[in-house]
Amino acid sequence: MEEDLSSSAAPAMHRFTCNICGAPCESDHLDRERSSCAACGSSVRERWIIHALSTGLFGPSLPLREMPVRREIRGIGMSDSPRLADGLAAHFSYTNTFFHTEPRLDIVTTTNEALYDFIITSEVFEHVGPPVQAAFNNLARLLKPDGVAVFTVPWGYQPATIEHFPDLHDWNVVELRSGYVLLNRTADGRLETHENLVFHGGPGSTLEMRIFAHASLMEHFRIAGFTTIQMAEDYPAWGIAEVPWSRGFLLRKGAA
Ligand SMILES: [Zn+2]
Repeated sequence: MEEDLSSSAAPAMHRFTCNICGAPCESDHLDRERSSCAACGSSVRERWIIHALSTGLFGPSLPLREMPVRREIRGIGMSDSPRLADGLAAHFSYTNTFFHTEPRLDIVTTTNEALYDFIITSEVFEHVGPPVQAAFNNLARLLKPDGVAVFTVPWGYQPATIEHFPDLHDWNVVELRSGYVLLNRTADGRLETHENLVFHGGPGSTLEMRIFAHASLMEHFRIAGFTTIQMAEDYPAWGIAEVPWSRGFLLRKGAA
């Protein structure tokens, strides 16, 4: 009798070191969002952020705990998770910023320039109000000339970005007894409502505005002045692999 190897085989185990907490890990799954480090709970996306930041700043991929303490390196996060923010603040002049609470940063309206050696913006740009190009332009402008941006959003290979609310002009998210609705007066005066809103991690600034297309992202980066755009690659030693969707980008301005 033949043995059915496909059904009896144990799931492939991924053995790696967490580059955020340093723990040796063994996980039967590597997922962009699900926790796969039993010690600190990090996901593939978070470990890639640290990997990309290290390669962008230093060249080699140093685990967070082995990065040098260099207070002259200035950086910001945009609603980074505490497991990233705490470690980064221990090594650099790093501030985690927020849209709704201090220390605030509104990436669409900020007028600051050339302040930072690095900016981490992970799962933020799908939430900013239109026109989204302003956010890309400000991301580039906030960086020093040789600064790096570590960037993630949900994106796909569809022909164009899917804007859920293309005519936003004067708008707000309103809570009714039956749930949240988006109320908008368009530039030409029409009043429109949108229901079935998608929030990431709770209502507020986390309303999903769009799903980027890869081609649109490349155009946003180019217009903003980013000339080096590296898409995330696997790095199995840190448990960064098997990410078929929405890989991150490491961005630089100036000469390639
Ligand atoms: Zn960990």
